[in-house]
Amino acid sequence: MRSLFLCLLCLPVFASAQSIYYTVEAPNAAHHEAEITVTVQGAKTDSVEFVMSKASPGRYATHEFAKNVYNVRAVDAKNNPLTVVKSASNAYKVKNAATIKLTYTLFANRADGTYAGIARNGYQLNIPASFIWVRGLDQTPVSVEFKNLPEGWSVASQLFPTAKKEVFTAPNFQYFMDSPIKVGKLHWRNWTVKNPNGKTYTIELALEADAPAVAIDSFTNNLKKVVDESIAIFGEVPEFDNGKFTFIASLNPYIQGDGMEHRNSTIVNSRRQFDGSNSFMGTFAHEFFHAWNVERIRPKSLEPFQYDQVNMSEALWLAEGFTQYYTSVIMTRAGLMTPEVFLRSMNGLINSKESAPGGKYSAVENSQRAVFVDAGVAVDETNYQNMFSSYYSHGGALGLALDLQLRSQFNKTLDDFMTALWVKHGKTEIPYTLPDVEKVLESITNKSFAQKFFNDYVYNSRPINYSTLLNQAGYELALMSENSNWIGGGMFRPGKTGLVVETATRKFTPLYDAGLDVGDEIISVNGVTVKKKEDLDQVINSLKIGESVNIEFISYGDTIQSKLKIEANPAQVIKPMTNKTSAQEAFVQKWIGAKRK
Ligand SMILES: [Zn+2]
Repeated sequence: MRSLFLCLLCLPVFASAQSIYYTVEAPNAAHHEAEITVTVQGAKTDSVEFVMSKASPGRYATHEFAKNVYNVRAVDAKNNPLTVVKSASNAYKVKNAATIKLTYTLFANRADGTYAGIARNGYQLNIPASFIWVRGLDQTPVSVEFKNLPEGWSVASQLFPTAKKEVFTAPNFQYFMDSPIKVGKLHWRNWTVKNPNGKTYTIELALEADAPAVAIDSFTNNLKKVVDESIAIFGEVPEFDNGKFTFIASLNPYIQGDGMEHRNSTIVNSRRQFDGSNSFMGTFAHEFFHAWNVERIRPKSLEPFQYDQVNMSEALWLAEGFTQYYTSVIMTRAGLMTPEVFLRSMNGLINSKESAPGGKYSAVENSQRAVFVDAGVAVDETNYQNMFSSYYSHGGALGLALDLQLRSQFNKTLDDFMTALWVKHGKTEIPYTLPDVEKVLESITNKSFAQKFFNDYVYNSRPINYSTLLNQAGYELALMSENSNWIGGGMFRPGKTGLVVETATRKFTPLYDAGLDVGDEIISVNGVTVKKKEDLDQVINSLKIGESVNIEFISYGDTIQSKLKIEANPAQVIKPMTNKTSAQEAFVQKWIGAKRK
């Protein structure tokens, strides 16, 4: 998603030599099929290779988008058939002709931020999931034409409009792949924002929802607050390539809940019917923050994006995790999230770093596992509950810790850090490595602080004392319940003889340490027969914290005797300290109070 405009001025020159032109129509939309034709002119190679993607930016696992492509055939300019050879699981080769028209059927029945949806009510096309592309023609301009659109439908996209309202263009391959398209009955709203240099940009909402105008207007007003709070962090909006940023939103029951960032647009989906409430707004805030953080402040590991294999990144704790932290910060500053809900969300981040077994792995390792966990589908069992903690929440917990450390030790904030990153790597669009990020942190703190932060929390995962950090805001971390007997939680169901462990047990819990795994059947605890969950709860609650008792269970047909230790529930919650000082009140105001002008 880079180097987009190197050759915008020479676009007409390229257009006369090489061009890629797609047409899309969906006469069988009732059954989720589209007919897509790509016409390629001026390719220089002996044969032209057409490829379906295996990867999609922002959704990091491997996807076999080619599985939903069939009826592939090709003709030349005079409609003479050309031979199509299937050259790989996701590719086709055609011997070159001055003009090649390749047509295929696309089945698309998952409208979200990654896949594609073709239905009676409209189309939602993420490009990697929908459009076959031509290898080697990375700099060739791309056009897309929608044919036979029903009356009243419109098209939302960051693609460039043309004189024909159903035709859109992209200057090159990377920009095209990054430009999702929504076609249907859309409600439109827009307003402008002005940067300190005087340039103005349009912010646009294209909303598919069954909603009265007044509800959309009030939602738009709140969206403006979110946009303004994001701008207040960086001091300006990015120079959106086409002069505008588009929120492409579908809030209706026919969609899959999702959010996906792009350079000049975002897809925001929710299955819940639009009710004008702000419960949808978090995703808007998250994705808009990405316009800076990941779209332009971008890890080198995602550049250039490889569409026929995955890009693995060590930096998603920053790209996604810090964005997750800022989602709650922005929502609270905008007055759309209460401080109580904000703290609950911080609580979730802290637990994912400090309590979940996966939090023991470094932020880098958890980021690198995105290629397996982020919509990755596996038939065999995985041990994610014990070796993975989401880079969203783990990274968010690091964002919270860094923000509070900068405030207490340097009279700086995470906003200052993000702005410094923006100036060095975002505005300039120079992709970063982790040592680059460490340097930026050093520039607003000092060498030893930056080095220690990266060594302790990025490359390793040492514990963070959140309680001390939260004290300056008048909060502390405390056990959720001082006297709650605990063996590790999980799901259970009555079995043939006893109580079956239904979910995988987690490391660092008494059940795991006693040797119990998913499928094992508990027979008795401390000599008391256990047949249902209530029996287990009763016997556990009758014991003392710290006590070790006998547990008998069946595992793979064998009866096992082991010891089960009763522990106190380690879950921690953020609690307000008694008698908050005015300094603590002022700290909170400066932290999550409104910043927008
Ligand atoms: Zn995100």
